[in-house]
Amino acid sequence: MMTFKDAERLFRVRPGSRVRLKDHDPSWAGGGEFKELRSDELKARAKSFLAKSLAELAEAQERLYANDVYSVLIVLQAMDAAGKDGTIKHVMSGINPQGCQVFSFKKPSDEELDHNFLWRYTRALPERGRIGIFNRSYYEDVLVVRVHPQILEHCKLPPGKRGQTFWQERFDDINRFERHLERNGTLILKFFLNLSKKEQKQRFVERLDNPDKNWKFSLADLKEREHWGAYQDAFQEMLRHTSTKWAPWWVIPADHKWVTRALVSGVIAHRIDDLGLKRPTITAEQKKALAGARQQLTGDKNGARRRE
Ligand code: AMP
Ligand code: MG
Repeated sequence: MMTFKDAERLFRVRPGSRVRLKDHDPSWAGGGEFKELRSDELKARAKSFLAKSLAELAEAQERLYANDVYSVLIVLQAMDAAGKDGTIKHVMSGINPQGCQVFSFKKPSDEELDHNFLWRYTRALPERGRIGIFNRSYYEDVLVVRVHPQILEHCKLPPGKRGQTFWQERFDDINRFERHLERNGTLILKFFLNLSKKEQKQRFVERLDNPDKNWKFSLADLKEREHWGAYQDAFQEMLRHTSTKWAPWWVIPADHKWVTRALVSGVIAHRIDDLGLKRPTITAEQKKALAGARQQLTGDKNGARRRE
């Protein structure tokens, strides 16, 4: 099976590197040893890898929660139909819902526009001990807003040019914001689900043809598809400028859903495990207090277990 080092080499954006999206294959489905496998075999492997990662993740989350020091922020960005929702559903399926919070960000409200652009995201950050998932995030403010700069006209910003410097300043703000979070105990994991234009078309057609999926189809998504090239440029800029040592981006192939889910869950489980959290231990004094409590409950002087 693929090691974490392999995954890092293939999918993690090295800070400061001039990543080119055309070097990342959205339909990647395993190289090397996997080349020989048929697609159903590959799928089965990815599924068993996913199951293993989910078990590790559930266990890591318990330690995260019990320690109550670190939090985990998972950021998902992608074109429409790339599988953000499905990834969240699968990756989180094994996790205690009390330890996990999911936020989806839509067009900002009037109240949100009355504040700085990071405000609404700040309010949704995960507490210590928890995993927070951002389904879209502050990165929309350098993506959809960059592709449609007219949005800025409604953002009540001080006057000024909206050129390269403006966007560079937003990247700087984001990098420093994330640096601040990291220093305060937030592990930040950012995934760009890299879908091909061809596969997006397939998935839209499927939404039109399959009555069970009709509800997922949106004319607005079709409209955004017309800006595919501009979005790819905006994603590339985002990856180049905001993949940092403290919060690197992962470019995850998204044409095969099972590959996406296996990779994302594997990275999350591995990175939480890297925090090296142990289950909290109790002191001799606490142990004595527990024995006392037990005696009080059961009236058993020796603290020995008694069958009811
Ligand atoms: P969806 O989550 O796909 O139903 O759609 C959410 C929509 O809100 C997308 O079209 C996003 O581009 C849009 N959106 C999210 N964040 C922002 C933002 N900061 N500014 C403008 N539009 C946004
Ligand atoms: Mg949508």
